[in-house]
Amino acid sequence: MSSSAQHPPTHPAALDLAERENVLLAAYAVHSAASRGRKHPEAPHPYRGPFQRDRDRIVHSAAYRRLSAKTQVFTGESGDYHRTRLTHTIEVASVARTLGRALRLNEDLVEALALAHDLGHPPFGHSGEKALHDCLIAHGGFCHNRHGLRIVSELEQRYLAFPGLNLSFETLDGQLSRTMKERADLRPTVEAQVVDAADSVTYDTHDADDALELRLLPIGELLELSLWREAEKRVRQRAAALDDSQLRRAILHELIDWQVGDLLEQTLTQLANQGIESVQAAQAAPLLVRPSPELAEQKLELERFLAGRVYRDPQLLRVRDMAQHMLCEMFAGYIARPELLPVGYRNRAAQVGWRRTVGDYLAGMTDRYAQQEYARLFAGPKRG
Ligand code: MG
Repeated sequence: MSSSAQHPPTHPAALDLAERENVLLAAYAVHSAASRGRKHPEAPHPYRGPFQRDRDRIVHSAAYRRLSAKTQVFTGESGDYHRTRLTHTIEVASVARTLGRALRLNEDLVEALALAHDLGHPPFGHSGEKALHDCLIAHGGFCHNRHGLRIVSELEQRYLAFPGLNLSFETLDGQLSRTMKERADLRPTVEAQVVDAADSVTYDTHDADDALELRLLPIGELLELSLWREAEKRVRQRAAALDDSQLRRAILHELIDWQVGDLLEQTLTQLANQGIESVQAAQAAPLLVRPSPELAEQKLELERFLAGRVYRDPQLLRVRDMAQHMLCEMFAGYIARPELLPVGYRNRAAQVGWRRTVGDYLAGMTDRYAQQEYARLFAGPKRG
């Protein structure tokens, strides 16, 4: 046997990755070479690192594609301007990558975590989540973050060798750290913290933009909040004469830029002041990626305003009531007639019980599919 058969040549890109990360990444970043691997061991890929593979698996999953027809805040019936769960996810990944690169983090891990962060959302956003939680209250309830883990660990069926996506432990831990913030052994890496912060920057800014587009409120109401007032001041220093539409676009841009800049400055200061030089030190430290106290206060004011003025808009409340009624009826309907479930789900019931199985099936639906199936199976006259 030749020596090359005994020792297959290593792909040059595989060598490059470790060298490249050693040069580019900070000491507190998660390095691919230090990955603890996967639950079902797999040989390293010849030219893709472990977190790049995770990212690719997430992008190719059914749950990721379904985000395009799932509510972020506003349902598809509201128009076609506002964010879906998918476009929100891509915006989070975009902001998180910007932060990750500037902080010299592992961008592949940041992107994998960002693209996976909302996979567990059921149809109809938080209204759907509340309905499923109520249906499952005596059986552990329903939480989108925990459900996201079930999707990537059990529910996705793409590979012959294992259920789920068999993501690396670092990606799973990043998602887990979002669900169990109180567990000391699951403190988030800086990569996971960046995704959380990017989520907050993104939804605070874009929920206000969507509400303006849908004319749920006039821009004047937002300009009474200190965050928007300050952003307006900054914008008008560059361009004084703007109509409402130009002002709105300029403020949105300013808000993201300002918040990202503030997060970077704050985080770099924290990392330097606390002398963080390893992943372990970053995990042991108090939260490193957070806005300045002034900006945090201003964001809180905006979030309180959105909660009272936008998320409780009568139009949204009507959709919420409809979604909750529909999902609860479907839950009871599938429990009463489990033969209506696809065979793969019926087979799962032996392991996890009928209630969790029905919850998993409903959670996987898009808004559109839930409405179609409700109309097809449950909305007509009661069957005997
Ligand atoms: Mg999100």
